[in-house]
This record gives sequence, C-alpha cells and structure tokens, in this order.
Amino acid sequence: MEAATTSAVEGIDVAEPAGETPFSLALSQDQKDIREWVHGFAEGVVRPAAAEWDEREETPWPIIQEASKIGLYGFEALAQFFGDPTGLTLPIVNEELFWGDAGIGMAIMGTSLAVAAIFGQGTGEQVGEWIPRCFGTPDDVKVAAFCASEPNAGSDVSAVRTRAKYDEAKDEFVINGQKAWATNGGIADVHVVIATIDPDLGSRGHAAFVIPRDTPGLEMGTKVKKHGLRASHTADVFLDDVRVPAANVLGGKEKLDERLARVREGKRGNSQAAMQTFEASRPTVGAQAIGIARAAYEYALDYAKEREQFGKKIIENQAIAFALADMKLEIDAARLLVWRASWMGRTGQRFENAEGSMSKLKAGEVAVWATERAIQVLGGNGYTREFPVERFHRDAKIYTIFEGTSEIQRLVISRAISGMQIR
Ligand SMILES: Cc1cc2nc3c(=O)[nH]c(=O)nc-3n(C[C@H](O)[C@H](O)[C@H](O)COP(=O)(O)OP(=O)(O)OC[C@H]3O[C@@H](n4cnc5c(N)ncnc54)[C@H](O)[C@@H]3O)c2cc1C
Repeated sequence: MEAATTSAVEGIDVAEPAGETPFSLALSQDQKDIREWVHGFAEGVVRPAAAEWDEREETPWPIIQEASKIGLYGFEALAQFFGDPTGLTLPIVNEELFWGDAGIGMAIMGTSLAVAAIFGQGTGEQVGEWIPRCFGTPDDVKVAAFCASEPNAGSDVSAVRTRAKYDEAKDEFVINGQKAWATNGGIADVHVVIATIDPDLGSRGHAAFVIPRDTPGLEMGTKVKKHGLRASHTADVFLDDVRVPAANVLGGKEKLDERLARVREGKRGNSQAAMQTFEASRPTVGAQAIGIARAAYEYALDYAKEREQFGKKIIENQAIAFALADMKLEIDAARLLVWRASWMGRTGQRFENAEGSMSKLKAGEVAVWATERAIQVLGGNGYTREFPVERFHRDAKIYTIFEGTSEIQRLVISRAISGMQIR
C-alpha cells in the first residue's frame, strides 16, 4: 500500500486515501491498542460521570479537558484516527467513547463537525489558522460549532436563509440570520456557519464562513432542553450584521466566485461530490449509535444473568435470552455496515447504493430498538434513573433524527438504488 502524506497543520501528516487497501475485519495491533486506550477512558472517566452531567445538562468541561490532556481531544488525535488507511479506526474510537456515554461523547466529538468542514473545504492557510483554535490546549480547552440548520431549514438544507453579502469597500462579508440546533452553538470559540450568497441558487448558492465567538453581532439564542444527549450543549445562534473578512470564507473568495459563476452559467454543480462527502461521514455517526446500543446490550446481559424470578435467572427464560440474542445479532450487523461504509469512504470507493446512509440508518434504528429492549429486560429498574439504560434509550433517539433523519436516509438510498427522483 502506498500512502502519500499531506501536511495540513505544521507537524501533522494525514495519509491520503489508498485505493487498494483491502477490506478486512482483522484489526491491526495499532487499532486494538487505540480501542483499548479509548475504552479505558470511557470506562474509567466517562461512564462514572455520565449520570451527573446528564442531570446537570451542562457541557462537561473537566472531562473534555481530561480527554485533551491524554491526547484524545485535539487535531493530532483526530488526524491519527482519520489517517488510518483502512477507515476502521474512526468508527472504533467513536463506538468506544459513546459506549461510555453519548452526551459526554458528543461534548468531545461535536467539535469534529466544524473541524471536518474546515479541513475538507478550507485552504491550507485556513486549516492552519482555525483548526488549532477549535480545540484550544489542555490548559484552555475550546470547542467548535457547525451551524447549518435553521428554524425552517432542517432536512431541507437548500432552504437556508442566513444571508451573506459582500461589502467590496471593506473586503468583508456581512452575515444576517438565525441558526437552530447548533451543537456547541454560542459557546464555541469557532463557528462554521452555512449562509447563502444567492438564495435563487438553492444549496449551490451556499458558502461556509468561519466566525470567531467574539465577533460583534454573534449571539447565543435559547439553549435547548433536550430528551437525551443532555451533556452536549445545543442552542440557537443569532447573526446580526456579523462582519467577517472575505478571507474567512472556506476555500477562499476567488474559488467561491468561480463556483458561483459556473452555477449561474447553468453548468453542473458539485451536488454529486457533496453527496459522496455526506456518505463518507455518516458511518462515523452510525458508530456512535452502535456504542450506545452495545452499552445497553452488555448491561442487560449482565443483569439478566444475575436477576432471579420464579427461582431461576431471568436469562434462563427463552423470551429474555432470545431478546439478548437478537440484540447482539442486530448490533453486529449494524457494525458491519458501518465498517464497510467507513472503509469505502476512506479508500475512495463510490457509494453506488448509498452505503453510508444505509449504515447510519441501520445503526440509529438498532440503537433505539436495542435500548428499548434493554429497558424491558431490566423491568421496573430499567425505567428508573438509578440504572443507566433509560438514559441510553433517551440518548439513542437522536440517531434517527440528526445528521439526516431516518426518512431522509431512506430517500437517499431509494434514489441511489432506483436512479429515480423518489419524493
Ligand atoms: C441534539 C441535536 C443536535 C443537532 N446538532 C446540529 C448541529 O450541530 N448543526 C446543525 O446544523 N444542525 C444540528 N441539528 C439539527 C438536525 O440536523 C435537524 O434537526 C435534522 O436535520 C432534522 O431537521 P428538522 O428538525 O427541521 O426536522 P424536519 O426536516 O422538519 O423533519 C420533520 C419530519 O419530517 C420528515 N421529513 C422531512 N422531509 C421529508 C421528506 N422529503 N420525505 C420524508 N420525510 C420527510 C423527517 O424525516 C422528520 O420525521 C441538531 C439537532 C438536534 C436535535
């Protein structure tokens, strides 16, 4: 395998995709070591703190700091996980971390959405300037936010109305609008905001802007009180005459102007490329859902082997044993879909049948189903906050909603397999 390297931030190399890396379930020693390391952090630091931060509904800064100190939170870590040519390290890391707790997991991994946008769309200079600011340092940790959704633009991203207008005299963009549901919105040091330059062009008229938190006009709106994932901050973000230098548009203004000119001339946009990018990022989200599902399954299995009713362990009843067997089966099946899609994305395969969407859809639905089953196995205890499975269930539900709802995943898959405009 040949792996060319590109240096994004000084001193950090990220391997280029290596098309000929075969798919294999045999993990390397490096991958096993990373899995054990992340699992140790999830078990020793994250899981014991999960109930407290879920109740507090606050960002668990001390835990993010702990992750930063051990090198789990930061661009070096992300680059190492992403750099693995098989594509399996990233889902493995996410599964282990979210096995510990999904709310805290998202508080740690939420920053990567903005980082991925800067890394994927930014110039070398922008990557070097902004990515370190997204994470801060172990002594002064920071988070970042990716703000695409709006009150009237959720599944339909083309409906984004946040407007960016170019002020030629000052070589600045002036941005106005409202963003909804932003993970880390308003508390992030760096916000990546999707705005439209020309609403008539739909999503082809969009551009991504980097906006530091201290920019006048950027304000946090209502912090959302949620069903689950409560240790992860979610809020609206208001943009009122926010001025940023033209240099803050990801990819640079020159490229943006060229792209818009092509679109206005009626030339084909890059919607196919955007779709391939979404397909490549979805398995990572699926891996998080699998982490929650596995946590619930393992908890329920242990419980069923201990709890006695009618003079025997409850697992000795087929009804309970078969439920656990089905949970294991579905979780492993979902993981295989996630690993396949992750490998495809990393090795540059074409997602002919929307395999990335398949993996996220399956993993999200398995997580909701398996965590509900776990509550049933625990009976009354499962329904109380004394036991973690009710939290697992609340956390799991978001995986059929964000990063593309289950219905939108089905839409993408049905279009891919039929080649038709299913609506
Ligand atoms: C905890 C949390 C964190 C989030 N973090 C972020 C973030 O960091 N950044 C960000 O930009 N966004 C974020 N979001 C927003 C999230 O991506 C959206 O909620 C999601 O895309 C769905 O949009 P919506 O809520 O507007 O639902 P809607 O689009 O209004 O959908 C409502 C229902 O209609 C269905 N539906 C819609 N269109 C169709 C269709 N064509 N065919 C069939 N069914 C359809 C949907 O599947 C859903 O069941 C977050 C949301 C939550 C809850």
